[in-house]
Amino acid sequence: EASGKVIDGKSVAKQIREEIATEISRMKASTGVVPGLAVILVGDRKDSATYVRNKKKACESVGIESYEVHLAEDSSEKEVLQHIKGFNDDPSVNGILVQLPLPSHMNEQNVLNAVCIDKDVDGFNPLNIGLLAMRDREPLFVPCTPKGCIELLHRYGVPIKGKRAVVIGRSNIVGMPAALLLQREDATVSLVHSRTKNPEEITRQADIVISAVGKPNMVRGSWIKPGAVVIDVGINPVEDAKSPRGYRLVGDVCFEEASKIASAITPVPGGVGPMTIAILLSNTLVAAKRAHNFK
Ligand code: NDP
Repeated sequence: EASGKVIDGKSVAKQIREEIATEISRMKASTGVVPGLAVILVGDRKDSATYVRNKKKACESVGIESYEVHLAEDSSEKEVLQHIKGFNDDPSVNGILVQLPLPSHMNEQNVLNAVCIDKDVDGFNPLNIGLLAMRDREPLFVPCTPKGCIELLHRYGVPIKGKRAVVIGRSNIVGMPAALLLQREDATVSLVHSRTKNPEEITRQADIVISAVGKPNMVRGSWIKPGAVVIDVGINPVEDAKSPRGYRLVGDVCFEEASKIASAITPVPGGVGPMTIAILLSNTLVAAKRAHNFK
């Protein structure tokens, strides 16, 4: 019997999309323009294609114009940079997203650095990360997935100030910015990574756990302090003969065990995933409002 309340990321994301759609109508009525998001996809990774398709659909659902460029796997870095420059200079584009990972012959840093800071809706520009890390400074954009995690905590009324938080994983796109965000909200934060000794013992001290590792069922029920809130970012395919695709998606956290011990927990799918896209739309709206000086 699960005692933990399931955090419904899908329905929170829907609510956020409705709020964004309302704002976009108001903006359109007053300025005559709608926000635009450009997405650059390179290569044929199925998961990346799915993410891009979902982002495009989400844009349509709220009234954001989307511009997609799909380049072949063997395209040059120069071609990608040219498209970024075109979008940087295009006033109808307010946000630019480069779907990661890029093919291995490209330098990810060069590509991400080329996105102009005012259109960096993914928040991956080092200047934005630097501003996120500094006291009394405000980044222009915060990376979507970690911001989505914090938004879930807010909307479920989970107190953060003074609490102990553990983030498992320290990637540039999820773990590290999640830890910075929790710290900005006055949590006391520990970062657990692949070299951490006794990750279970450290995690068990947390009132709030955010896991972004990429290992199915790594975080067991015994890692969770009774009553803790668990946000599971992991999206991991595991073999499943019963599924028509031959696999299903699970998180980093063993949901069956942890949901009996946590006071609230996100499912996979239907937790953080939909929030990531909702925040991307929100960041794009913010970029457009800034560009048109619309309040
Ligand atoms: P990365 O592979 O970039 O980072 C994984 C992190 O986990 C690293 O910091 C690594 O440590 C750490 N790690 C690896 N093994 C262990 C271990 N045994 N114990 C503790 N920490 C460990 O992954 P991402 O951050 O990009 O993604 C993480 C997961 O989140 C993936 O499943 C991904 O699919 C999912 N994801 C979901 C999104 C969503 O919208 N819901 C968006 C983005 C990602 P070290 O630094 O020492 O190598």
